[in-house]
Formats: sequence, C-alpha cells, structure tokens
Amino acid sequence: MATFPDYKDIYVFVEQKDSEPAEVGYELISEARKLVASAPELGFQVVGVLLGENVKDKAQDVIAHGADKVIVVDDPLLKDYSTQFYTDALTQVINEFKPDSLLTGATVLGRDLAPRVAARINAGLTADATGIEIDPTKVADGDALLLVTRPTFGGNLFGTIVCPNTRPQMATIRPKVFDLAPVDETRTGEVIEFAPVWNSTEPEVVVEEVLPKKIEGVDIAKCNILIGAGRGAEGCLPLLEEAAKELGGEVCATRAVVEDGFMDKSRQVGQTGKTVRPTLYIACGISGAVQHVAGMEKSDFIIAINRDPEAEIFTISNLGFIGDVNQVLPLLVEGLKKA
Ligand code: FAD
Repeated sequence: MATFPDYKDIYVFVEQKDSEPAEVGYELISEARKLVASAPELGFQVVGVLLGENVKDKAQDVIAHGADKVIVVDDPLLKDYSTQFYTDALTQVINEFKPDSLLTGATVLGRDLAPRVAARINAGLTADATGIEIDPTKVADGDALLLVTRPTFGGNLFGTIVCPNTRPQMATIRPKVFDLAPVDETRTGEVIEFAPVWNSTEPEVVVEEVLPKKIEGVDIAKCNILIGAGRGAEGCLPLLEEAAKELGGEVCATRAVVEDGFMDKSRQVGQTGKTVRPTLYIACGISGAVQHVAGMEKSDFIIAINRDPEAEIFTISNLGFIGDVNQVLPLLVEGLKKA
C-alpha cells in the first residue's frame, strides 16, 4: 500500500534563460531516469516542468534528454525569472499534478524558487544536495522515499536527509554532480500545456534593467583540462599557467590560494567554489581537503603532484607523483604532449 497514493513520478524543474534550458535540468533528468529504473515496481515516470515564454518548442528537447512527459507553462509573465510568478506557476503545477518528488538545480534561480514553493505548499526541502537515491527498503511498500545527501559541518561530513511525512519531496541539487545521459532525438513523450490562474498579474517587483555580470577570463566549469593550484604551488604559478597554455587548458585553485590573494575567486574549485568535471585535472601542491575534492572528484582523470606521500589527494587520483611541483610538472607536460 503506497504511503502517498495520490502522488507519483519524479519531476524535474528545467530552468531556462532566453528559452534555452540550462544543462543542470538535463543532468537532473538523466539522474531521475536512473532513480525510476532503480525502483521499477513503483511505475514512476520522469516529468520535466518548463516555465517561460516561447518555451513550448523546447519540450521535445526535454523529452530527448530523457523525460517521459513535459508540463509546459508558456506565458508572457514568465518571460524573465520572477520569484512571484514562477512560485505561483510551479505551486499550481504541483497542486494539479501531485509529483512524488521535485528536483531543481541548486543555481541562483533554483535556490530562490524552491524554498518559496516548499514554504507555500508545506513540503520538505533538502538544499544544495550532491547525491540522491530511492530508499530500497521502502519500495516494496510503494514508498519512494528519497535519501538525499548533502555536505554538512563545513563539508567535513555528508548527511542524508529524508522528508518522510510530506509530498512532494523537494531537493535542490548542485550542477555538474550528475552525468548527462546521451540525447535520443527519437524519444517520444507527452507534452501537457498548463495555464495557471494568476493570484495577481501586477508584478510586486519591477526589473528596470539587467546588467550582465562581467565574466573575467574563462568559466572553469566548461574547461576540458584544468591545472589545479594548491598552496604548495603558490610559488610557481607561472609554471602552472605555462603548462595550462601548452596543454590547451586553464588554471584553477584551492580556496587557500584564493584567500592568499594569488587567484581570482571565479577560479576556486570546491564546496564554496565551482564544481568542475574536466577530462583531465592536474592537482599541483593540493592536500586533498574534502571541501576541495567535492568540487573536482568527478573529473575523468586526476593526476596529483605532491611532495607528501601521505597527502589525501592521492586517495582519489588516478595517477600520483610524489615530488616537487617545480620538478615534476614540466616533465609531466612534456610527456603528455608526446602522448
Ligand atoms: P594545504 O592544505 O595547505 O596543502 C598544500 C599541499 O601542498 C600539502 O599537501 C603539501 O604537502 C603540498 N606541497 C607543498 N609544497 C609543495 C611542492 N613544492 N610540491 C608539491 N607539493 C607541495 N577549499 C577549497 O579548495 N575549495 C573550497 O571550496 C573550500 N571550501 C571550504 C568551505 C569551508 C566551510 C571550509 C571550512 C573550508 C573550505 N575549504 C575549501 C578549505 C579546505 O578545507 C582546505 O583548507 C584547502 O582546500 C587547502 O588548500 P590546499 O590544498 O591548497 O592547501
């Protein structure tokens, strides 16, 4: 007997800007597919929720990324993000369709929207999560209880949060923690258009002007090759920059390096920085603190250079060099260029 018989399916809020869905929505859809596959007894589907103006055309994209169904709310009031109108619309989608769970990216938008919606409908929300699974011990009872993992105590521990008494179970999940499944353009699915009844069409906040943030340099989250600078490499940053140039990558850093004033905060990797997933991450003079590792451990291949053989970074690296960055890095770059 299901605990919440009226609630079913895993919903994913697909955030968009200028009608272009953000990648995190597709990462969450890929993960939601794995969740429903882990508990086929529940018969759950993956449902995308797309809010905006002129977004209907994107519904097929959402299906191609793994959704079985897409609920579209296409309305001029949703052209740009507004807490008021997005909360109104998403709350009504939830009340109408009754999702068992709703996943949202832990982006600036998602962190604003999800708590508002959760408060409006009295649902439990786990913020800033990095992992999610359906509790296998509850599935036989028809219960899709989510076990949601998030860092806690300054990132020194990972806690598992459950919201057993309310539906939907809501979570905001960090971008880049889940893999993107391959796109299948031949997938078919249902598109449902939903028109909310607005509480008010008068905006409570009027946006006069949007000034785009000046992005200095590159977005490290989009780089294929990253050379990570730790405190042990502060004395040889030009060497790292040269290596990055030779390999066609970029330099990023630990918080220690950023706090010491050697690198811009936009290049910080980790719990309070960016999450990165390059093909190659070369960690130079990085100890491997859990807060740093949280932001780079999903890299495809990790090479660590550290003169301390006991450094934690070696426990998560695919290849490790015990030695001085100054000596090892130039040799490594030479070797990689020949490979
Ligand atoms: P250290 O820990 O000082 O390590 C330096 C390493 O360099 C050592 O292992 C040493 O053996 C090695 N070394 C020294 N000289 C050489 C050399 N010549 N050649 C080779 N190896 C050498 N950190 C982050 O990075 N990102 C975050 O987002 C982040 N968020 C945090 C959030 C909170 C709430 C807290 C409490 C901490 C956070 N931290 C974060 C800090 C984190 O705990 C560590 O202090 C930090 O990652 C350590 O940086 P590091 O590895 O550069 O320095």
